[in-house]
Amino acid sequence: MNRADLEEMQADLALQLKRAERLSAEDLAREIRRIGFWCMRCGDCCRGEENSVVVFPFEIREIVALAGEGWLEVAEPPLEGEWDIGGNFHTLEWRLRKEDRDCRYYSEEGCKIYEARPLLCQTYPFYLEDGRLDWSECRGLGGEIGFEASQKLAELLKRRQIVEIKEAIELVRRYEDFERGDSSPHGKCVVHDSEGEHKIEWSEIPGALGRRLRQSQKW
Ligand code: SF4
Repeated sequence: MNRADLEEMQADLALQLKRAERLSAEDLAREIRRIGFWCMRCGDCCRGEENSVVVFPFEIREIVALAGEGWLEVAEPPLEGEWDIGGNFHTLEWRLRKEDRDCRYYSEEGCKIYEARPLLCQTYPFYLEDGRLDWSECRGLGGEIGFEASQKLAELLKRRQIVEIKEAIELVRRYEDFERGDSSPHGKCVVHDSEGEHKIEWSEIPGALGRRLRQSQKW
């Protein structure tokens, strides 16, 4: 990605941000009431292969503070990425860590980090796609939602959209491109986010991620 591509992305993100700031939470809330939603506490959204929660650095810090855990216990890099000529693996943004197929914070009693759960979890199953309300599969859709709950959800959705765009703007602003190379078990993992580059040794990443990457690269 050259500088001109990055500048074009920044200009596009700036326009998206203006549009997101003009979104009407009242209109969104009305739409949510029309669709209907009531959380059944089934935990389906916290478990299984499909569960993948993007977390931003400020959210990771909130979870670190609440759970009393380290950054790499809370979050892990995604497995999609590219290699540079030095054998380092580059990837974008963080995901909440999982234990096997499920979110590490799921329990039958509910979310163990409820007060600090990411915006994505707070707004599930809804999300905004270019300012348009859309939703993922969920058993609670169609349920009855009150005026206040719909208003709160709409405001959270608007906040999430603004946060996502601002995080992307910062990521693009700090992003340093690199020459592409071949995979290697000897380099580092480089996570690009709104704070710049986080360089991690593979041995620092607990859990199954390092193993999964090795398997995917057939090392
Ligand atoms: S953080 Fe909490 S709400 Fe979000 S996926 Fe994990 S258990 Fe579910």
